Amino acid sequence: MTLKDDLMARIAATGPISVADFMSEALLHPTKGYYTTRDPLGAQGDFVTAPEISQMFGELVGLSLAQSWLDQGAPERFTLAELGPGRGTLMADILRATRSVPGFHDAANIHLVEASPVLQDAQAATLVGHAPTWVSSVNDLPAAPLWLVANEFFDALPIRQFERAGSGWRERCVGLTGDALGFGLAAPAPRADLEHRLEDTGDGDVVEVCPTARTILNVISSHIAAQGGAALIIDYGDWRSQGDTLQAVQNHAAVDPLADPGRADLTAHVDFEVLATATAPASHSRVTPQGVFLERLGITARAQQLAQKLTGRARETHIAAHRRLTHPQEMGNLFKVLGVFPATSAPPPGLTK
Ligand code: SAH
Repeated sequence: MTLKDDLMARIAATGPISVADFMSEALLHPTKGYYTTRDPLGAQGDFVTAPEISQMFGELVGLSLAQSWLDQGAPERFTLAELGPGRGTLMADILRATRSVPGFHDAANIHLVEASPVLQDAQAATLVGHAPTWVSSVNDLPAAPLWLVANEFFDALPIRQFERAGSGWRERCVGLTGDALGFGLAAPAPRADLEHRLEDTGDGDVVEVCPTARTILNVISSHIAAQGGAALIIDYGDWRSQGDTLQAVQNHAAVDPLADPGRADLTAHVDFEVLATATAPASHSRVTPQGVFLERLGITARAQQLAQKLTGRARETHIAAHRRLTHPQEMGNLFKVLGVFPATSAPPPGLTK
């Protein structure tokens, strides 16, 4: 039985499910989910992320976190955490770049929040010698100052979708159309949490809500406000979600999200307005394009320095990677960075209040 068969049997028995339920089954079903059964990253996989494009990404993120740690008095014990670390590449680059920051490694207690056993194994192999601890939730991070990064984690969290109908909303659901899965709409209902979206939407417009994103960011922000530290949240999306952004990717191409659950990556744009409003009682930075963030941290100088050691094909790939991470028509503008920090501290370098 494929996961699609399971879901069709469940829907036939108990009725349509929300897009969020569909997404969480497709991504994290214990034995048939997308992340739980494979390493999806890289040229041989389904998609490529910034840390997999170039070591420069993780190096600059690492230096921003380390400078923020120094700015807050270099606490002698802190948690260095990552959410959804993929293959562990970003954390490995952070650790290499910060080797020469006095005291940083000795003070860091590395924690990884990862749901996939396959990717936990990949992370263990990449980070051998660094003794990371895996936890299943941000609630399990130790009570200590916290420096945290999440790249392309929030886009994988399950979203619910609502279509405007008068002053109410119809939830988009996954049901059966003949012998396939198909989208349908539940009966219209008012929604207190979407009251503010009546201002900027009309009949038929779709908005998305990601309840877990808000909860997770709120836990991180309360932790940082109480204990010190900072978080860098990097993802694709913008201020305020509008429209259907649910996207399935298989082998580097867009596919039908309902066609093959468990075998395609599913993501949705991150609503940075919702994240920003979940950061109280900590402060948050401006939502900053990734290209601007990396340029402020000196990616061009670093790219030139690395280019000096390269020739031929390797040099061309390196120059293309710099462009891909920063250019507004590539990842530079689509991806955004949100910083979280204590109200009494400065934002991590690369970001402004
Ligand atoms: N940050 C990495 C990988 C991004 S892919 C990179 O930039 O390359 C998304 C990651 O989040 C994967 O490691 C996936 O297994 C993990 N993930 C997705 N949903 C999760 C959840 N609910 N809890 C913990 N980890 C999750």
